[in-house]
Amino acid sequence: MKALVYHGPGQKSWDIVADPKPTEPTDIVVQIDTTTICGTDLHILKGDVPTVEPGRVLGHEAVGTVVATGSAVTSLAAGDRVIVPAITSCGRCAYCKRGMPSHCQATGGIGWVFGHLIDGTQAEYTRVPFAETSVHKVPDGLTDEQVLFLTDILPTGYEVGVRNGRVKPGDVVVVVGAGPVGLAAIQTARLAGAANVIAVDLADSRLEHATRFGADHTVNSGSGDVDKQIGALTDDGADVAIEAVGIPATFDMCTRVVRPGGVIANIGVHGAPTTLHLEDLWIKNVTITTGLVDGTTVPMLLRLVQSGKIAGELFGTHEFGLADILSAYDTFAEAGKNNALKVVIKR
Ligand SMILES: [Zn+2]
Ligand SMILES: [Zn+2]
Repeated sequence: MKALVYHGPGQKSWDIVADPKPTEPTDIVVQIDTTTICGTDLHILKGDVPTVEPGRVLGHEAVGTVVATGSAVTSLAAGDRVIVPAITSCGRCAYCKRGMPSHCQATGGIGWVFGHLIDGTQAEYTRVPFAETSVHKVPDGLTDEQVLFLTDILPTGYEVGVRNGRVKPGDVVVVVGAGPVGLAAIQTARLAGAANVIAVDLADSRLEHATRFGADHTVNSGSGDVDKQIGALTDDGADVAIEAVGIPATFDMCTRVVRPGGVIANIGVHGAPTTLHLEDLWIKNVTITTGLVDGTTVPMLLRLVQSGKIAGELFGTHEFGLADILSAYDTFAEAGKNNALKVVIKR
């Protein structure tokens, strides 16, 4: 089969590799119908994730069709359409039993294994371990585009942003960073009952997307005193400040704009240390949360997609054939220039 293979920092190619087969009784093999590229894939290609070894097939988000099942698989069969999520769950280890498959111990101590510790989804086929406790069947009538982003960005925005941030009806929520995950937080904050969602970003094009995803107000962080602008839109600060960038300046901004007793929910992937200003925060009664997505809310989010409450397909701005995946990478790597959110890659 053909697959997108990582060959070390800065190097990738669309190669012929061996066809995957079920190797464990709990495995399935899925033919990839639709996949996408994540910011994490770009980090891997920069060499930021040394646990990814050269030769690895990248990708951790897909919708596909089951083509083979291991001997222990009873609830999935060839022909079933499934969502293959970023997080694999064995369903048996202590972390899976705590509802935290993000730290599943069965597959290398972390739930994110596709395109990381095992071959991923940017390929014609992929082997899915612990299939019955990991994948979700796609309900009839839903398109791949509607459910593709349930694999990662929607549960990440919801679980790590909105749920960890304890967003409740009537809250004022500031979301710093209007990339795909920030937009997922904006979209799901509305469902949690936020009265007022304020999106902050440096790019006007992203702020336009934020409005499309349900933000009530937008603030361009390059336009002067952001704290003051956010202050003018809130009574005494945000009830919840969601960080969806991953750099010190934006985390810091969240700690300044949150009200006393509020929550700062970090989603951003940080590559550098950040100074925590406890000299200001110790008296503010704030809560700071972090996290990697578990994906345990995917069935709930899937029902909201099914009922039309979440427009999952809004994230897909560009479409490519699987054989053109290198062009898809070029477009996604220059997302700002191309006004791209997520690329949809179909076989
Ligand atoms: Zn991802
Ligand atoms: Zn587990």
